[in-house]
Amino acid sequence: MVEIIHDRNRCQSIGVCESMAPQNFEFNDANEMTVLNNGTVGAEQLDQVREAVAGCPNEALALRETDDGAVGA
Ligand code: SF4
Repeated sequence: MVEIIHDRNRCQSIGVCESMAPQNFEFNDANEMTVLNNGTVGAEQLDQVREAVAGCPNEALALRETDDGAVGA
């Protein structure tokens, strides 16, 4: 599973992420960027989200990849 980490201290609500991956990022009524879907990223959105993370001018986004569900050795 891939999870979006959003650093609110760095975010300046510029909106690059929302324009690149609108299924995963949205501005709320207070004009603050929020991460949708509890921060989780579906496989079909992963490429878009990777581009959005890379495109954030403030480096306010990161991805955390967890290996839950993986079968142990
Ligand atoms: S692109 Fe970065 S700075 Fe802009 S709203 Fe998204 S997380 Fe915040």
